[in-house]
Amino acid sequence: MSEPILSVENLEAWYGDAKVLHGLGFALKQGEVLSLIGANGAGKSTLLKCICGLLPKKSGSISFKGEAIHGFSANEIVAKGIALVPEGRRLFPSLSVEENLILGGQVNRPGPWNLEAVYGLFPILKEKRNAPSTSLSGGQQQMVAIGRGLMSNPDLILLDELSLGLAPIVIKDIYALLPRIVGNGLSAILVEQDVTRALDSAHHFLCLQEGHISLEGSPRAFTKDEISAAYFGM
Ligand code: ATP
Repeated sequence: MSEPILSVENLEAWYGDAKVLHGLGFALKQGEVLSLIGANGAGKSTLLKCICGLLPKKSGSISFKGEAIHGFSANEIVAKGIALVPEGRRLFPSLSVEENLILGGQVNRPGPWNLEAVYGLFPILKEKRNAPSTSLSGGQQQMVAIGRGLMSNPDLILLDELSLGLAPIVIKDIYALLPRIVGNGLSAILVEQDVTRALDSAHHFLCLQEGHISLEGSPRAFTKDEISAAYFGM
């Protein structure tokens, strides 16, 4: 059996003295999509921050492609092949669409993604390539954020709340492209408030509740009631 691309063991994380992740463990195989679900404050974004080196106060082990990445900086982790598409997009407001995308590619990792490939995925961004990123609609800004992540040619992409603040039709369009985004063996961890969408999009899911895993497995292995109980802690 092949090695998991990502392996997390006994992960704990703190903000100051407040412990918010309690001994999480899971593995992700190459090419798989894992959805993280859980109520507000369950720890989903914190888990993503731990994986990509943005939260220094943590213990346990995180291995990526067989290498322990626990103490590496966020920049070093991008260079190793993990990209974060952060909650709220966090584009560089003073830069154009294309400049934001180019920044994502600065790690110079080889792979299928470059400006033309991103514009092929999101043709509207090519039309708006010279526009300030702040002049775009929310959905278009989300496309830039995804494109910027892809430009680093990651092996694992972390997608945090893609649908936040977007109209349903825009969310539908972005999710329709997910198979193209995670094609070519790219693995993904998806944080999504819309549980049905999260489960429909994933091979596996983890449900977090107050920093613990309350349920995990194949979305098809559980009833809606079982998943609701794990989500709400009933
Ligand atoms: P949401 O869906 O609301 O984004 P989440 O599942 O992503 O929720 P986290 O943002 O990871 O949850 O938060 C986990 C816990 O850590 C919560 O109790 C939250 O209040 C706390 N927390 C998050 N960020 C910080 C911070 N910067 N400083 C202190 N506590 C924080």
